[in-house]
Amino acid sequence: MMATIEEITKFQKEFDKLHGWINEFEKHDEKFLDRLQYATIALAGEVGEFSNILKKVLRDKKLDEKIDEAKLKDMREELVDVFIYLIILSIILKADLGKEYFDKMNKNQDRFKKYERQ
Ligand SMILES: [Mg+2]
Repeated sequence: MMATIEEITKFQKEFDKLHGWINEFEKHDEKFLDRLQYATIALAGEVGEFSNILKKVLRDKKLDEKIDEAKLKDMREELVDVFIYLIILSIILKADLGKEYFDKMNKNQDRFKKYERQ
């Protein structure tokens, strides 16, 4: 199933609303910073979970050449958790990730021009 960022964001908003987790506040609302703080800590936590699996993959690799497919599957799942909090943060910050991704990549194209091949 293919989905756009807009569809994913809409789904996340509906999921959060169903569970009573409101992420849409104006910046002067006292709850705005609470949600921003919570989602930022949660994002860091998920990056930590992802990293911890990689730590185990690297540690195991020193004993055996094989990379455990189950651990890669776990990493993919944690990557989705990271993505969920990224989407939630984009909702809190009213960021249009699809547009802002390309705006940033345009900047990066200039910034990294000297490393281009061909
Ligand atoms: Mg997780």
